[in-house]
Amino acid sequence: DTPQANGIRPAVNGHFPSNSESSGSSERIQVINDEKNFTQDLTAQIQRWGLRDVGFNYNIVAVFGSQSTGKSTLLNRLFGTTFDVMDESKRQQTTKGIWMCRGKGMGVMVMDVEGTDGRERGEDQDFERKSALFSLASSEVLIINLWEHQVGLYQGANMGLLKTVFEVNLGLFGKKAQEGTSGRTLLLFVIRDHIGVTPLANLQATLTADLTKIWESLAKPQELQDRQLSDYFDLAFTALPHKILAADQFESEIQQLRRRFVDKERDDYLFKSAYHKRIPADGVAFYMENIWEQVQTNKDLDLPTQQELLAQFRCDEISSAAQAEFNEQSKSQRRPIEAGRVVEGLGGLMRNWKTQALTRYDRDASRYHQGVYKRKRADLLAVLDSTLSPLFLGQLKNMHKLCLVAFKKEMLDGMRGDEYNFADVVGKARDKCETRFTEGAKEALLEDTDWTWEDELELLREEVNNVADQCRKDETKKMVNLIERNFKRQISEPVDLSLNKASPDMWDKVLSTFRSTLDKAESTYLVKAKSFNCTDEENTTAIASLRKRAWLALRAKIDEQTADTVILGKLRAHFEERFRYDDHGVPRVWRPEDDIDGAFKKAKDQTLDLIPRYSKIAPLDSSLEYTLPSEPSDSLSSSEDFDFPATLIIFSETKSLDLVSRFRRDADAYYVEAKRSTVSSIAQ
Ligand code: GDP
Ligand code: MG
Repeated sequence: DTPQANGIRPAVNGHFPSNSESSGSSERIQVINDEKNFTQDLTAQIQRWGLRDVGFNYNIVAVFGSQSTGKSTLLNRLFGTTFDVMDESKRQQTTKGIWMCRGKGMGVMVMDVEGTDGRERGEDQDFERKSALFSLASSEVLIINLWEHQVGLYQGANMGLLKTVFEVNLGLFGKKAQEGTSGRTLLLFVIRDHIGVTPLANLQATLTADLTKIWESLAKPQELQDRQLSDYFDLAFTALPHKILAADQFESEIQQLRRRFVDKERDDYLFKSAYHKRIPADGVAFYMENIWEQVQTNKDLDLPTQQELLAQFRCDEISSAAQAEFNEQSKSQRRPIEAGRVVEGLGGLMRNWKTQALTRYDRDASRYHQGVYKRKRADLLAVLDSTLSPLFLGQLKNMHKLCLVAFKKEMLDGMRGDEYNFADVVGKARDKCETRFTEGAKEALLEDTDWTWEDELELLREEVNNVADQCRKDETKKMVNLIERNFKRQISEPVDLSLNKASPDMWDKVLSTFRSTLDKAESTYLVKAKSFNCTDEENTTAIASLRKRAWLALRAKIDEQTADTVILGKLRAHFEERFRYDDHGVPRVWRPEDDIDGAFKKAKDQTLDLIPRYSKIAPLDSSLEYTLPSEPSDSLSSSEDFDFPATLIIFSETKSLDLVSRFRRDADAYYVEAKRSTVSSIAQ
């Protein structure tokens, strides 16, 4: 520390501005007015003084003494304050209530207390007592200001005042003194207009003796009977020469005294840390106001309770301030999350906001009552976490959706082309999806919370399975369709051929074609189904469906080949082959001697025999008879009631009779034509 030009040293490591004060630093405030009301502006004023955020890094000093003993003058000289000084020409009391200034270039709050001549003027001593309480509860140093000629006047106003101070102090700090130094206060006696005839040491001895007398005369509570004055107070004495008669000397002594308030390195430094009341600067206003309220309502001033109240109030305020900024920060990501976005690095952001809020809280609140500070910190933490929790849950939901979409895309990409293994595609896509979700969830998860993401992952898994299942079903369906198409193609020609030939074992041939083609189709299905990870049940269903559809395809083929015109054509061809061609396949030319009637009847009967053959699917070899397995309900085919035995019937009885009569008409035409051809050959 380098001394300043004016000899003033900064109070704390150059922390406080000395010459270049901010505009508010010279302002003063009436903390308690003539009506004994406490100001509402102290917090703002402390802020303007630039002391709000200094923590414990400040001091409080107050002055006591009779009216017009130069108290305000002393403070102004010592601390560079701007308290009103009595105008010589008017000689009236200037200080009303309690005023406060910030020491110039020092982190000191200076209190100028109304003169205490109340008892001499016969006024009530109420204010004297209250201001003593108030000052002791907050000040480190209490300046007792008195004229030299007042020293030794045991009955004088000052002694009455000191008695009050001691009493009040016992009430405030009596018990606390047992616990250590907290609550200790320095009484600095400043003897004014010291002429020098009586040395300071003598004055000091007189005063000390008087103080001891007062202390002993005090009615102390039983448990504090043997407490000494020195258990609570340190005493210091100084004298100042006459301000007007020895102006220069006055000034230099004042500067010397000032240094004792400023220079921490000095042995006689006055603001010893033991005197500090440990109220953080940002809580001073609230604390003082509460003290004053207690004092005013004549309640017992229990300082520990006051400190706890202060802590509750301030920790709440500090917590709210920390939350306000935190809320702004967290709000910034609320909308994107609600809009369904996945916020990149959300966990990092949240951790950051949370740390910032806690750091802010800790910085200011940790100076207060530890129990309260910790309790409120836990509350704050809970609020922070519960504010962030919806973001976390939203992020999970959004990631869930995003991962599912990505999974679907991955599946589609993987199933492009023919050469893929469905199970592999699903497996890869699922792994990717779960990894992605899990990584995102872990990033967003805050430590020391009861948050979890495993449930959401479980939901995602379920949906992934559903999608995979649906995909597999679709793919299986496609595959079955393909197999069905191939099946149709494969049976077409052999069935046509067999039905055209209409040999007695026609149905045996049709059915064995059907059987062998179906067997091939089924084994094709089973090979492919393996890569789809189909379940046994799905396989059973798919095969049943395949069989039914194969059967229906066969039936459709048969229907096509036995439609009216087609079957009549077949019958006609069959008949013609027998009636119009001989056994060697040579067309017949009828002659009169030929047995046209016999040939006609034979060919007709043989052809008519075919109708019952076509009318029902009935193989000669009964082992070839086909039955469909009763199928489980299945999505591959809409299974309305399906009457398999009915599908074996190709023509009903009526239909058969109708075909017989229609065929007879065709055959009769051939007969007439044959007859005619012989008649014409005779006529020639
Ligand atoms: P307060 O009422 O105790 O605050 O006293 P003031 O500071 O207002 O001063 C009261 C009067 O005493 C004023 O006229 C001052 O000029 C005068 N005064 C201040 N300091 C001294 C001093 O050291 N000696 C003398 N004799 N008068 C002083
Ligand atoms: Mg004054």
